[in-house]
Amino acid sequence: MKTIIFDLDDTIYSYKDCNYAAEKALYRKISQDCLITEDEAAQYLKFAKRGVKDLVGGTAAEHNRFLYMQYICELLKIYPFRYAYNWYRIYWDIFLNVCYPYEYVIPTFEYLAKKEIKIGILTDLTVYIQFKKIKKLQIEKYIDYIVTSEEVGCEKPHEKMFLKALEKAHCAPSEAFMLGDSLEKDILGAKACGIEGILYKNGVNVLDLLKKMGC
Ligand SMILES: [Mg+2]
Repeated sequence: MKTIIFDLDDTIYSYKDCNYAAEKALYRKISQDCLITEDEAAQYLKFAKRGVKDLVGGTAAEHNRFLYMQYICELLKIYPFRYAYNWYRIYWDIFLNVCYPYEYVIPTFEYLAKKEIKIGILTDLTVYIQFKKIKKLQIEKYIDYIVTSEEVGCEKPHEKMFLKALEKAHCAPSEAFMLGDSLEKDILGAKACGIEGILYKNGVNVLDLLKKMGC
């Protein structure tokens, strides 16, 4: 085994918890700025997400919170240049503030580094934000390569994503494992390219699992 390819969100840290805290703070700020309730702010965010998905679904831009904020302003018929950047910053400041790696991550990365098994990140989102998360998680020194859907132009489970990761790792599919929390995107996507997939579930002892699989 020459490389383990890790998904980032909900595999290395809890996206759900961070997003929950960040959206709560965002709803509060939007409700203050626009004199609407927090529930209404949540509804506007939902509409904005749907609108952005309709426009650029299947690309990294689909997840770009800046577009959501701009879209909310447009829905509310308020000036985006006054609010969008501030809301975007509040969302990510809170998100990153509560972003910590799962317990298994550092011991597993230490082990793989010692074994000279390359550690890659394969993730759907824009590169700027994923770099910020990796920095906050303090895992950058372990990461050998990263592939984002922004650079590839499509998202998991598209084979282009997995092939780009193999290219960066200089590995054949049989020399790689993919670890991720999404059966469809991470595991089935990897398998379609001949890469063995390991489904991550919270609480699973990843290091033991990898050792059992021959790492
Ligand atoms: Mg994930």
